[in-house]
Amino acid sequence: MEKIVEYLNGLDFNILVVILMTIFFSLERLLNSPHKFDKRVPHLLNNLVLGIAFILMNLVAAAVQVSILQWGDSKQLGLFYHVEMPFWLKIVIGIMVLDMSSYWMHRLSHRSPLLWRLHRVHHSDTTMDSSSYFRGHPFEAWTFGLINVFAALIIGADATVLTFYYVFLLPFLIIEHANMVLPDWMDRTFGRIFTTPNLHKVHHHRTQFYTDSNYADIFILWDKLFGTYKYVPVKDISYGLEEFDEPKKQTFWYLLISPFITIKRVSNAD
Ligand SMILES: [Zn+2]
Ligand SMILES: [Zn+2]
Repeated sequence: MEKIVEYLNGLDFNILVVILMTIFFSLERLLNSPHKFDKRVPHLLNNLVLGIAFILMNLVAAAVQVSILQWGDSKQLGLFYHVEMPFWLKIVIGIMVLDMSSYWMHRLSHRSPLLWRLHRVHHSDTTMDSSSYFRGHPFEAWTFGLINVFAALIIGADATVLTFYYVFLLPFLIIEHANMVLPDWMDRTFGRIFTTPNLHKVHHHRTQFYTDSNYADIFILWDKLFGTYKYVPVKDISYGLEEFDEPKKQTFWYLLISPFITIKRVSNAD
């Protein structure tokens, strides 16, 4: 276990991102992707440039997270410092609690008009592939990063637990957006507990009734537990936000400054 911890702590997340993106981009090509792109290169470039800005901001946010957790460690703050339990159990509880904190921040990002200004960048993508996860406004690194570190302080999770969480989370985030339809049996088995690609795609439906559902990154259990679980077959989903459909609103610069522009939400009620 010590070896795994040592390895994960030294892991370069940027290399992990590149490896995962290469795997899923190749799979999308090989597995006859259901969604055909008119303009794949501009789509990819916009998402990658936003992704780079997001990753850079994440590096700063991660450094702040580590400093806060070191402070928590010096004060012995949180449950794990006061209750004896094996390391693996701390990892399991840590991943679950951190995922639940992201669930609530994600739900709040749909509810709060201010947070929605940042989060709608992710939902503005009218086509979906492995790069879509990286289409997020860089400032979102702070909203999700801060709620995660707050949750970590409550349970007493240190930087190692946080690292396990992010390593476990990243493949979910990329595969959930991949341009491939996975078989229904995956939803019937794996999808009882985990968020499958088909379930996350419901969250990208352009009709707000469905956009406001399936918020969980890893455990779809949170949506089932807190009443936000919905299901639509992928073939019936169209992606994006009507207010971002114009080509100029799909460019990197527009998306970057869009939180500072008042754009009326079109809810597309069913
Ligand atoms: Zn969302
Ligand atoms: Zn998404």
